[in-house]
Amino acid sequence: MSNPPLASIDPLASDPEVSALLADEIERQRTTLQLIASENFTSPAVLAASASVLTNKYSEGYPGRRYYGGNAVADRVEDLARERAVRLFAAEHANVQPHAGASANLAAYQALIEPGDTILAMRLDQGGHLTHGSPVSITGKLYRFVSYGVTPATEDGSGERIDLDLVRDLARRERPALIVAGTTAYTRLIDPQPFREIADEVGAYFMFDAAHPAGLIAAGVHPSPVGVADVVTFTTHKTLRGPRGGAMLCRGDLAKQIDSAVFPGLQGGPLEHAIAAKAVAFAEAARPEFRTYAGQVLRNAAALAAALAEAGFRLVAGGTENHTVLIDLRSFDAELTGKIAQEVLDRAGITCNRNQIPDDPRSPFVTSGLRLGSAAETTAGMGEAEMTIVGELIAKVLRNRQDERVIDEVREDVRALCAKFDPYPTPLPGAPRAAGAYAAVGAN
Ligand SMILES: *Cc1c(COP(=O)(O)O)cnc(C)c1O
Repeated sequence: MSNPPLASIDPLASDPEVSALLADEIERQRTTLQLIASENFTSPAVLAASASVLTNKYSEGYPGRRYYGGNAVADRVEDLARERAVRLFAAEHANVQPHAGASANLAAYQALIEPGDTILAMRLDQGGHLTHGSPVSITGKLYRFVSYGVTPATEDGSGERIDLDLVRDLARRERPALIVAGTTAYTRLIDPQPFREIADEVGAYFMFDAAHPAGLIAAGVHPSPVGVADVVTFTTHKTLRGPRGGAMLCRGDLAKQIDSAVFPGLQGGPLEHAIAAKAVAFAEAARPEFRTYAGQVLRNAAALAAALAEAGFRLVAGGTENHTVLIDLRSFDAELTGKIAQEVLDRAGITCNRNQIPDDPRSPFVTSGLRLGSAAETTAGMGEAEMTIVGELIAKVLRNRQDERVIDEVREDVRALCAKFDPYPTPLPGAPRAAGAYAAVGAN
């Protein structure tokens, strides 16, 4: 059976089941609030590149050194993505093949150190990532992790900052081969410089995992670890607003090591369609509008944090300097767990995730915290006024979590708010109309 001409394809007419599911998902994304800190709304151009025929191509190797034929175009795509990444972050070398942030981290470990070596990284329950040594992650099985955390909480909000004295003490005592900075739930700026100094003192490599702030760094609203850390890993789908995927930046002298750790060290053929979409995202992030966007992301997170503090929540680390807000639910309601909060907010159309807070007495499945992020709804066009309303709606739901009427009422308020800030207002050419799917992101 041959494929129909591309131009005439209604992509999913042949599969009503998947088509209906995609329609449901686009409806969910358009009518509920997306406050998961690791999510964003990609542009139609990123969506188009992700859905392109490059998915058909096998390109094991690197541009100019592929194992299979027919890679002239794939080479240009990947070269373009690498060049754009290098320019965007002022790096010496980029590898755009990692399938995800986790793969990029594993590749960095593989490139720099040996199994059994010691890695100093952030504790998981204080904001680190699974790939920073969780016993359930392959990273925790292959390497010996030693963990630092944050300083104790204080009344005035000046605590719960990365404890650099502890990083230094542990580095001197444990002599790690690699020090990792970077977090998944930490609301303050991370200055890479002190980590560099500590790494130099003990002769360790320094890796910065910029999975979350990559877009903020690209826009210049957060300090850049590029040129400070030996290797920077990041995801392309969080604040950077590109396709789901990972990437790595490094100094020129580490390029070969990094490249061979990704392929053939860890992965098979790269996803050239995802790489094309990464190239699109890198170009978008280089535009002045993206800098404006990133600044608004920070102001929106601050507005959300202020509204939540006003409503009686304790903010972990006393507030935010990035796109995330981490709230401690215990001060608001001793009985309220992160799990309950996430579920009841979901019913009100507010999508976020439960998260452990530093020294959380509850398990990672229950938790005492809630993590929120401003990156996605800022893309949809929301500003500080809307974020203040969102904070009030969250407090209203959690205060009345047993009252179905209030939850329904908020669900309607959320629906009305989302209608004014639709991430995908106009259908893309060729997209299924009924689904109303894949449409254009507004000017922002
Ligand atoms: C999200 C994240 C990752 C992993 O990214 P995936 O694409 O989900 O594999 C790695 N490190 C940190 C700090 C993250 O926040």
